Amino acid sequence: MTAYDDLMARERETEALGQVAGRLGWDQETVMPRGGADQRAEESGAMQAVLHERRCDPARGHLLAEAEEELTPEDSESAAQLRLIRRDHDRAIRVPADLTVALARVTSRAQGQWAEARAADDFAAFAPVLREVLRLKREEAAALGGDPYDALLDGFEPGMTADRLSALFGEMRPRLVALSETALAADWPQVSGSFPHEAQMRLAREVARRFGYDFTRGRLDLAVHPFSSGSGDDVRITTRVSRADPFNCLYSTIHETGHACYEQGIDPDYRLTPLGQGVSMGVHESQSRLYENQLGRSHAFCGWLFERMRESFDELGVPDAETFYPAVNRVHRGYIRTEADEVQYNLHIMLRYDLERALIAGDLEVGDLEAAWNDRFAADFGQPVRRASEGVLQDVHWSVGLFGYFPTYALGNVYAGCLNAAMRADLPDLDAQLAVGEPAEAGEWLREKVQRHGGFYEPAQLIEEATGAPVSAEPLLDYLEEKFGALAG
Ligand code: ZN
Repeated sequence: MTAYDDLMARERETEALGQVAGRLGWDQETVMPRGGADQRAEESGAMQAVLHERRCDPARGHLLAEAEEELTPEDSESAAQLRLIRRDHDRAIRVPADLTVALARVTSRAQGQWAEARAADDFAAFAPVLREVLRLKREEAAALGGDPYDALLDGFEPGMTADRLSALFGEMRPRLVALSETALAADWPQVSGSFPHEAQMRLAREVARRFGYDFTRGRLDLAVHPFSSGSGDDVRITTRVSRADPFNCLYSTIHETGHACYEQGIDPDYRLTPLGQGVSMGVHESQSRLYENQLGRSHAFCGWLFERMRESFDELGVPDAETFYPAVNRVHRGYIRTEADEVQYNLHIMLRYDLERALIAGDLEVGDLEAAWNDRFAADFGQPVRRASEGVLQDVHWSVGLFGYFPTYALGNVYAGCLNAAMRADLPDLDAQLAVGEPAEAGEWLREKVQRHGGFYEPAQLIEEATGAPVSAEPLLDYLEEKFGALAG
């Protein structure tokens, strides 16, 4: 046995335990009895403690150093495994154990307080615990070293920096603002009717299958906030059903199918190793958004979907496929990020990005956050925020300490724009296939270019290898302007 073999046997066990911990989370959001919450918190806490101990174990550090010594230059797969283990190990040991414990404790408390404060529209009730979360996250960033915001961002998007993001967002902003003004001035049709639960779920299952989701290694269930969970041979997705809005279930399902196909599409040789998971949150989101928007909300696919939905539901409230397409892509004023259309979505992210950078830098106090949010929202979206639940309290992220996470949503859209342009150039018949409800060729292209590689490449390198060009916001902006320019007349 070489040190590398020893190390990998250990990592495989850690990855397996990580999957078990993830499945506890899936269970909690789907089928766990309500009375099980306190016990589950203890069970999950125990799993997290085991995982943390394994990540920080000095024995892991010794084996890793030995394995790095053994490495031969031609062994690129082992080099990639070791790169990911090194990254994870170094991040884990830089943060003192008592800080990790304090963060776990306070964020679990903060999440509950956030939910209560949101229900009561009372930011002041949430502010004290958020101040505590922020203090600990700033300590964590300092322990990780380098620019504090970059240190946190790097945990979600390796290699990305705030400077690079700010340049991207600066390029996107004026074109998105102009496009959103044009789009908001147009009239958008809406579907209406009553859409029975079972018929919606049947359609969701069929569409997930058409998009390449493998139900022999996955399942679709209901959750309050849709998510996907797991990797390798057990990748589960969830959706939700609204009787009045069939697109909620359908597009949540397609979105989560994108995440799940990424995990199911990774080279099986990487299963239960550090390489065996999506490489970053941004690349993950590129898959879900591409499936959902560039494919699922395309003109061609909407033509098929209209006919298919007419078979499933008595009444859609729109007369033909040409009215159905703008109804699917409706641009409208709204407060909630997760309900935003393709044009305004990234503006919601930029608002959060600027505010959280100011919080981490110490330029904005938690006590001033709600006012800062409301001012910025009114300036960016042209309407005043009426209550905290549709403003600063709408997202769970900050309560659980996810600072540096929001920008990966917009980055996912940028990557999706790059991938879509390259894919369309490679697959000239794609629209003809989407028009008959067959996105399989797109799924194969993405599996080959992106999904099968797992964590092998760094995110920016992966997109560049897949598309033949460096990451740029240009393809996304061109796509949005072409699509919504035409839709808004
Ligand atoms: Zn997503």
